[in-house]
Parts: sequence; C-alpha cells; structure tokens
Amino acid sequence: MATHRVVLIPGDGIGPEVTAAVTRIMEAACAPIQWVERRAGLAALEGGQDVLPQETLDAITQHKVALKGPCTTPVGKGFASINVQLRKRLNLYAAVRPVRNLAGVPTRFTGVDLVVVRENTEGLYSGIESEVTAGVVTSLKVATKTACERIARWAFAYASRRGRREVTELIIDAGCMRLVQDPARFDVLLMENLYGDVVSDLCAGMVGGLGIVPGANIGDDGAIFEAVHGSAPDIAGQGIANPLALLMSGVMMLNHLADTRGDAACRRVAQRIKEAYNRALADGKKTRDLGGDLSTDVFAQAVIERLPA
Ligand code: ATP
Repeated sequence: MATHRVVLIPGDGIGPEVTAAVTRIMEAACAPIQWVERRAGLAALEGGQDVLPQETLDAITQHKVALKGPCTTPVGKGFASINVQLRKRLNLYAAVRPVRNLAGVPTRFTGVDLVVVRENTEGLYSGIESEVTAGVVTSLKVATKTACERIARWAFAYASRRGRREVTELIIDAGCMRLVQDPARFDVLLMENLYGDVVSDLCAGMVGGLGIVPGANIGDDGAIFEAVHGSAPDIAGQGIANPLALLMSGVMMLNHLADTRGDAACRRVAQRIKEAYNRALADGKKTRDLGGDLSTDVFAQAVIERLPA
C-alpha cells in the first residue's frame, strides 16, 4: 500500500491535544500516512524559530498536503496572522467548510447540510492597512476579477464533483436572514473572505458549535486541512477539547488524497473513520462542548473501538 507523506503542524493551545487524538485514531484505522512534523505559531517562536518557519513552508510545498492544529499569532507584537500568511504564501485560495447536523447532537435546527466555500486570499484580509492620521486607521478591501472568478469557478466545480445541487450567491444581509429562517434549504454557499469567516462560525453554531466543523484550504498546488476553531486558550491543557473538528478535517484530507492521487485505500479509511465517529456520537459518547463528559482521550478511544473491521 502506498504511503503518503503529510506535514503535521500540532499548533498551539488545544492544538497538540487534538492532533495527538487524531493521529492516534488515524493509526488505529491504518491510514496510509507518514507524518512529517513541523512547527508554526507560538510553538515555533518558543523553539527559537520564526512564527512561520521557512522549513515549514518548504515541507508543505514539497509534500503538498498538511494537517494543521490551530496556531496562535502573538497579539500586539507586529506579527501578521499565521493562518492568513500560510494561505496567502501557498496561494490556498479556496476555504471549504462543510457543516451538517450530526446524529446524537440535537440542536435548534435540523436537516442542515451545507458547505461554505470562502475566498481565502483577499477582501479585508489583504493586509493593506495604515494609520492615515492619529486615531484613524484604514484597511483596504480588495476584490480582483481574477480572484472572484477563480473562487466562483472552483465552487461550481466542487459542487458538481460532490454531487451538490445548488450554489448560492445572495446579498449577505438577505442571505443571513434566510439562513436563520431555514438553513436546511441551503447547499453550497459561495462567500467573500470576511463574510465566509463570519458565516462559517454562524453555521457552526447551528449544528452544535466549533468542535464539530472541519475545514480545508485548497490551492492548485497544495492543501492544508484544519478545524475552523482557534487554539481555545480557555480550555487548553485540560484534556477536554473536542478532537472531532480536526478528525473530520483529517477525513477530508484522506478524501482529497483519494481524489488527487487515485488512492482508493484513503477513501476506505476515510469512510471507516466517519462511520466510527458517527456511531460514537449516536451512542452518546461526547466531549463537554456537545453536552457529554468525556475527555479528549476517552472520546478518541470510543471512536477507535467503533472502527468497522
Ligand atoms: P481564533 O481567534 O484563534 O480563531 P477564537 O477566538 O475564534 O479563536 P476559539 O479558540 O475557536 O476562539 O474558541 C472559541 C470558543 O469555542 C472557546 O470557548 C473554546 O473553548 C471553544 N472551542 C473551540 N474549539 C473547541 C474544541 N475543539 N473543543 C471544545 N471547545 C472548543
């Protein structure tokens, strides 16, 4: 069986805890992955490197695929966001965030099964900011025809490939209203950068929170898979973080490897892991954010015990 070398960035805060749980589950599921571990964020700074070390960028460029825990950007010290830098430097222009209701996680809404496709390189995240005079700052919102067309084409191609039925491009205020009125009627949401950021968290809230929403940042030459949530400093180090969002990102990564490298084994492993976590949730095995009482490790064990043969 072919083995794929994939860059693993444990990240900061709850990052190392959830990545350890995910690599454990992947190993138990016999995922054909060999991890190449690299640092970014505070972990890199504390290890005497840049916040975004060149060797980390080089490894992703070389191996094309990475699984990444959340990284903390030190605030007020002049560092640009690590996540934004990574997406821009590797030109990962499409962010993909599938959001769906899960059996065993009851919420106010039912039947939610949508995908946010977010433009990942421009808008208010272009980083063109200045203090025009004391007390007045400006940030340019950039929209280029090239990037708008590129993300729109990507969203339609993605929708066709995944057998989705509709891509929505509504005005954002009306879109938000309709989203809370009836989220089940939406399928693929095509979004500008900032709106995509806000709406993905909003959609996460509809299905049970940030602990269960995965994500991918995809470009023509590479892809980084990461949860939508941040490093959650309020619960870091306590062993209670939900590893599901990163695990689901890992499942997306396996499917991406299957699609781009024609490796059917990756698709089978992805399917087995998905079945295992669906069963765990349906059996009431949940971390605290979902109303359960399991630790990160005990939940990971519950998933491993439910891996289909
Ligand atoms: P960032 O600014 O880095 O994107 P954020 O400010 O949006 O981060 P998060 O780190 O995503 O915040 O955390 C938001 C809230 O969600 C926190 O209360 C955190 O504890 C909770 N949370 C996030 N991820 C998880 C998880 N995997 N398991 C449990 N709770 C989580």
